[in-house]
Amino acid sequence: MAPSTIAIIGGGPSGLVLARLLEVNGITDYVVFERDESSTPGPNQQGGTLDLHESSGQLALKKAGLFDKFSKELARWDAACLCLLDSAGDTIAKFSDVGARPEIDRVQLRRLLLDSIPPEKIRWGHGVQSVEKGSSDENTVGNGCVINFTNGTSASGFRLVVGADGVWSKVRSLISPAKPIYSGKLYIEGRLSHDNPSYSSAHELAGPGNMMVLGDEKMLAVQQLSDGHYRVYFGLVVPEDFYQRESASKIDPNAKAAIIRSLLTSSEELFADWAPEVKAFIQNAEGPFRPWPLFFIPPESLGWERGVAPGVTLMGDAAHASLPFVGEGVNCSMHDAVVLAECLVKHCGGNRAFASVQESSLEAALGEYENDMYIRGQDLIKRSAESGRRLFSNNAGPLLLEMFSGADETASGN
Ligand SMILES: Cc1cc2nc3c(=O)[nH]c(=O)nc-3n(C[C@H](O)[C@H](O)[C@H](O)COP(=O)(O)OP(=O)(O)OC[C@H]3O[C@@H](n4cnc5c(N)ncnc54)[C@H](O)[C@@H]3O)c2cc1C
Repeated sequence: MAPSTIAIIGGGPSGLVLARLLEVNGITDYVVFERDESSTPGPNQQGGTLDLHESSGQLALKKAGLFDKFSKELARWDAACLCLLDSAGDTIAKFSDVGARPEIDRVQLRRLLLDSIPPEKIRWGHGVQSVEKGSSDENTVGNGCVINFTNGTSASGFRLVVGADGVWSKVRSLISPAKPIYSGKLYIEGRLSHDNPSYSSAHELAGPGNMMVLGDEKMLAVQQLSDGHYRVYFGLVVPEDFYQRESASKIDPNAKAAIIRSLLTSSEELFADWAPEVKAFIQNAEGPFRPWPLFFIPPESLGWERGVAPGVTLMGDAAHASLPFVGEGVNCSMHDAVVLAECLVKHCGGNRAFASVQESSLEAALGEYENDMYIRGQDLIKRSAESGRRLFSNNAGPLLLEMFSGADETASGN
């Protein structure tokens, strides 16, 4: 195998779409370094379902030549429906169609992308510990960066290093002082299996799609996955370490979940005064629970001088982590990969070994990509923060109805 000249750090949606698009364009001297030990979903692998939007996520799959398989075999087109309730359990609105936003399980999306790339291109068990900026004088191969892995090995000699390693990116500090900040909002994730006492209520309300219950500075979301079970999310405005602190007395993850369940349903500041039928989703949610403190990159700190680290860039959450309240994080991340691949082909050429590319061409490609990405990324961070503010306000119902004003409503009120 020829030595790799492009290092993609992170095999999430953005990193894998980029890898696939490089393949499609005949640029094959790349490698993906991924922290996970293997492609088998582990207990810590992000689960849940993602809706792919036409102009971004779906576009990326079209460019990658994977849309047909996605559309015919994996996409859940009927899942683009939403039922909104208030904390008294009354239906505020029911939308049968919130647009052409089919859902796909996160693990299915990863499998689809992985199957489109030669397996030897992914180096599993290569969590990056740090990336050092080296000198790129004439004696240095590539851009001088040295990538140090948690497994004790290191790699260097790359012309291009792409940080696609998510919100806690180890590549980011090379080019930007930006740091993710805690939004004050925490999701706790549980599940409702087929034999769960709340399954039939979830099925009635969320059906193949989603349901949301909104209340003062709190929310509860339920969404169906491809095997029919539901994920349930409790959204809270609490300190970042709420889950760890409140469940610290227990070690067993299920015992921790039991403590949290009881606290959520009994505390008046939390869900105690919500309708019993809504609280049942919390009482019956299966552990182990997973806390998701929600972080974002301040929009004003997205951007860097191109010359700061030649041959290094960021994509996806590594560049513009945002709050998950407009459901576009993955879409924007996949779109980044499309734009980066297009800029690389435009300035550096496709169907060629990357080792011989001129530095000026590479920098022009990265500059053009980044200018496009900054605009989309900043816009997403701002819109998702605003949406979070609305969702957690004490007037969330009407504000959300306004957001979905163009959607196809089948019923409203009780
Ligand atoms: C609770 C929650 C719900 C969400 N729901 C939605 C939704 O419905 N719709 C939507 O569009 N977006 C949603 N998002 C956001 C979405 O998940 C992200 O925007 C998207 O996954 C970003 O893709 P990415 O490839 O940039 O990063 P990631 O998906 O974070 O992937 C990063 C990859 O890099 C690997 N990695 C991390 N660190 C290292 C390291 N040091 N070395 C090597 N590898 C590393 C990880 O294992 C992973 O494979 C949600 C986020 C959260 C937290």
